[in-house]
Amino acid sequence: MTVNYKRKLNKKKIIIFIMSILLFFIVIGFIYFLFNKDEVIGVLDSEVHTIEETDTYTLKIDYPIFHIKEVDNKVKEYVDKRKKEFIDVVDKIDYELTAKYDFLLNVTSSEYNDIINIHMNTLSYTGGAHYMRDDESIHYNKKTKQFMNLSDFFIDTEAFNKIDDLAYHYIMKLNLKSEKYNFSEIWVRRGIIPNALNYSHFTFKKEGLEILFPPYQIASWADGEIKITIPYSDLNELLKDEYKGSEKEDEKVVLVPEIRDLSKYEDKKLLAFTFDDGPNTSTTSLLLDNLDKYDAKVTFFVLGSRIDAHSEVLQRAYLEGNQIGSHTYNHQNLFVIDNTTILKEINDTNEKIKEVTGEYPKLIRPPYGNTNSKIKALSSLSTVLWDVDTLDWKSRNAEKVCEEIMKSAHDGAIILLHDIYESSVNGALMAMDKLSKEGYAFVTISEMATLKNRELNNEETYYNFK
Ligand code: ZN
Repeated sequence: MTVNYKRKLNKKKIIIFIMSILLFFIVIGFIYFLFNKDEVIGVLDSEVHTIEETDTYTLKIDYPIFHIKEVDNKVKEYVDKRKKEFIDVVDKIDYELTAKYDFLLNVTSSEYNDIINIHMNTLSYTGGAHYMRDDESIHYNKKTKQFMNLSDFFIDTEAFNKIDDLAYHYIMKLNLKSEKYNFSEIWVRRGIIPNALNYSHFTFKKEGLEILFPPYQIASWADGEIKITIPYSDLNELLKDEYKGSEKEDEKVVLVPEIRDLSKYEDKKLLAFTFDDGPNTSTTSLLLDNLDKYDAKVTFFVLGSRIDAHSEVLQRAYLEGNQIGSHTYNHQNLFVIDNTTILKEINDTNEKIKEVTGEYPKLIRPPYGNTNSKIKALSSLSTVLWDVDTLDWKSRNAEKVCEEIMKSAHDGAIILLHDIYESSVNGALMAMDKLSKEGYAFVTISEMATLKNRELNNEETYYNFK
């Protein structure tokens, strides 16, 4: 009996012991989870990219993960809502389409003074001469963990109410600078009345307060979105102390990209790796970090809408001797939109690229490869398509991407990839590793043209340089 009792007690003790150990690990795990979560706050370590293609529509969604629950929830809410609206329309199609419907959702973000600025933009095409546009912005203060309106940055309401005169001044300055605008006084005045809605798309930057007015808010559709920057010298007396900025203007630096001696590639087989839909800080950097290993330069066809948020990596790509071409501003299907919008898609991207690199691009790759003589005439750039399609956006698998490149590589080929996917970058690097041992050199489109004694013109469409 006594022995039995002792055994029972031992069993009980063991169970309690095991339970305590389990509890200990659960507590440690929870603390680690909390701690770890705090550490990654605000770090942009991943993005979500979705592409869907059916017979009736294409859908492209790109948005970052912020690792801040309330922010990610808001972004997800926006994405789900817009997507549902579009799919609801698509589901009702019971007639023959003249052009595929299209849905483009792009979320960009920037951070300044602990404020995360997020701009969510949707363009959807369901017929007609242009896309429908929707804009929504969020501003999150990482310190106070609160969402902010523009007025929250100002000392008080009285100070915020002075924003319209400042906005007016800088809008009219744009008008003077460029003849492309044709602002109407009443329209502008109505769109800049100080309230949260009129000023929902803003970003505090090094240079000042940037405000975006979507089409129709202060000007016609043809004038497109209007962006102004109010410098801190005009703002500081109205802003709360913690949001005041430096009034010094940055000196302009002249950028000199790396230029290489092409003579050593004259006897080599040549490949032009091209990357669309970026720039994207994390994955584009990963590519740039590894190109030197293979003495490789590549070509990026970038989206104007992504340049502000990823300008540093784009400048780096340019300075390291890679070529920057245009992939238009918003990735719209140029076959279905009116000429004014086509021109805006092209010109705004050229301006953005020049802002970062100091020079206009020479190349364009229209989204989906959709080009014709009208689009060529409007762009006045050389049109570069591809003859090796890796289908990297579909496979999302580095080995498969590498395999596709190995299967089709030939002297003079232009290879299509997307540097927004880690798998595409890794697949390209794997292929470069193998191909460099087979006597291939990796060059930009312009380097390829020079080496093949071809003068790039604006009429031809370049699929390769055979
Ligand atoms: Zn694309």
